Amino acid sequence: MTDCVFCKIVAGQIPSTKVHEDQHTLAFMDIGQVNPGHVLVAVKRHAANLFELDAEQAEAAARTCHRVAQAIREAFAPEGLSVYQANGRAAGQTVYHYHVHLLPRHAGDGMELTWPVKNPPRETLAGYAEKIKARLA
Ligand code: 5GP
Ligand code: ZN
Repeated sequence: MTDCVFCKIVAGQIPSTKVHEDQHTLAFMDIGQVNPGHVLVAVKRHAANLFELDAEQAEAAARTCHRVAQAIREAFAPEGLSVYQANGRAAGQTVYHYHVHLLPRHAGDGMELTWPVKNPPRETLAGYAEKIKARLA
């Protein structure tokens, strides 16, 4: 994608601070650094979001997240780590090239995600599950 900022980072056309690279993924420092050690794991071949990944890319991204998360933990000793990944504008995605945030967390760090639970009855849950299961069959 000629106009995609992360494709340009993968191609080396704009600079980034890389921490890991393999066949399918590139991990680099998020420019915004919500907390020190905030890393993005992106796929190399352009895919806008989770839905556009093939299985090989999905597996590679998960593997890189797992590996880099361990390194962040050793390097920064955070109290926690949030794994955040947005698909679509409504989900808060701003760069439309698949990436996962590995975000070291500390108590009181100001990071917020509201979680407006609905706590529906069990029959409602079962109805939701049936809709999904029908498409996994
Ligand atoms: P999201 O799409 O998940 O909301 O977030 C995109 C992330 O990409 C942001 O956290 C932002 O700081 C980061 N970002 C945007 N442009 C660049 C860039 O040119 N270089 C780097 N390293 N990070 C970027
Ligand atoms: Zn791209």
